[in-house]
Amino acid sequence: LVDAAGAVRQTVFAEMTDLAARTGAINLGQGFPDVDGPAHVSRAAVAAIEAGHNQYPPGAGIPALREAVAAHAARHYGLDLDPDTEVLVTTGATEGVAAALLGLLVPGDEVLTLEPFYDSYAAVIALAGAVHVPVGLAVEEGAFALDVQAVRRAVGPRTRMLLLNSPHNPTGTVLSRSELEALAEVARDHDLLVVTDEVYEHLTYDGAEHVPISTLPGMAGRTLRISSAGKTLSFTGWKVGWVTGPAELVTAVRTVKQFLTYTSGAPFQPAVAEALLDADGATHAYVAGLAASLAARRDLLCEGLVSAGFDVVVPRGTYFVVADAAPLGAEDGARLARELPARVGVAGVPVSAFCQDGTATSAALASRVRFTFVKREAVLREAVQRLEGLR
Ligand code: PMP
Ligand code: GLN
Repeated sequence: LVDAAGAVRQTVFAEMTDLAARTGAINLGQGFPDVDGPAHVSRAAVAAIEAGHNQYPPGAGIPALREAVAAHAARHYGLDLDPDTEVLVTTGATEGVAAALLGLLVPGDEVLTLEPFYDSYAAVIALAGAVHVPVGLAVEEGAFALDVQAVRRAVGPRTRMLLLNSPHNPTGTVLSRSELEALAEVARDHDLLVVTDEVYEHLTYDGAEHVPISTLPGMAGRTLRISSAGKTLSFTGWKVGWVTGPAELVTAVRTVKQFLTYTSGAPFQPAVAEALLDADGATHAYVAGLAASLAARRDLLCEGLVSAGFDVVVPRGTYFVVADAAPLGAEDGARLARELPARVGVAGVPVSAFCQDGTATSAALASRVRFTFVKREAVLREAVQRLEGLR
């Protein structure tokens, strides 16, 4: 978290966004949409401000949003949640993950993640005094594959938690039902807690099915499911997220949340509640359109990257594609990512930023860079044209 000089280390997203701004590069690094979410949802937030929803809301989140989160989970996945005890509203999924880990882990507990992993996980595991044990995803037959036996081998006497993420940032992998069943078996066999980050739950392509691991047998009682409005509704700056699961686990998260942020985004909560309830079907239509358009934008970027000389693993979900620069002769993706803005005017994020130093996965993925396709088609076309300059 802190570098050798004692300064707070910037996240790679902030670093690449700064670099893109300084060089005037197209920022395909940090994943955020360049078109806002639906107008009816932003109007609901404006109306909530004007109606006086501007002071601290209840710590667990307003009842309407907790009810909407429960209704959404029932409608999409058949999950049965008590809005009063099994739903907690958080300041984005980021706080949900942090409060879950800080609330459930004691120093020395081991946490398994899938490497490459979203960057906040390593930081929060460290803040909790826990031990991070990443298990690598390997590229097999053009896809990132989970080696369940490797997960099983990584479990030891101090292992307390599996921290999962599907659809997976940065690889765009969507864990299949059978992979999740195998992970669930490991969790049941070793009595592990599961925390699952599902912020891209609705952004899947080519018919890939998103399965919450909490829907599998024996899992609801040991799993905290985390999501947020940022990705589903294209309002990443609103930072409204939620954690759901059994009451005793949610209570542990809520205990910590009280002292991290106390409450979250008063006027955004009623707006997100209305969107999730989706009484008129407008959210469903929006999200279906977003996923379809993202699939097309993914294709545009993937084809452009291949044409520029990269190898790509075509993602089936998320905002991101991982591209391998090795065919271009670039073995060091971190160096390439730092050079790209000045060389061709495009920014990406090195996959090494999602790896632990020194792991085999980190070495295997050293030449890879993550690019986002959650940008307007014209922007992606321009980026793709610029990337041709690498040849
Ligand atoms: N988890 C993953 C996997 C993400 O990609 C992100 C960032 N978009 C987050 C969590 C953070 O979500 P939020 O903005 O809701 O805190
Ligand atoms: N989740 C987004 C990404 O992976 C942005 C995260 C951030 O800026 N912290 O790019």
